[in-house]
Amino acid sequence: MQCPVCRRSTTWTDNPWRPFCCERCQLIDLGTWAAEGYRIPGSSLTADASPRQADKEEQSDDAPSER
Ligand SMILES: [Zn+2]
Repeated sequence: MQCPVCRRSTTWTDNPWRPFCCERCQLIDLGTWAAEGYRIPGSSLTADASPRQADKEEQSDDAPSER
């Protein structure tokens, strides 16, 4: 089989780091997983993302013309 990190052929049997080929690749994979998992939910910097929508219907076409 192949190591999912470095794509090298690794042995499944008698391999303490399976399915990786070595400890390094295992740490890399764990590091990647941890990095993705350490995204703290609720830490988004969207401060009150609810802009006021001034939906005033401006009907200024019927402007009274003063003569
Ligand atoms: Zn590897």
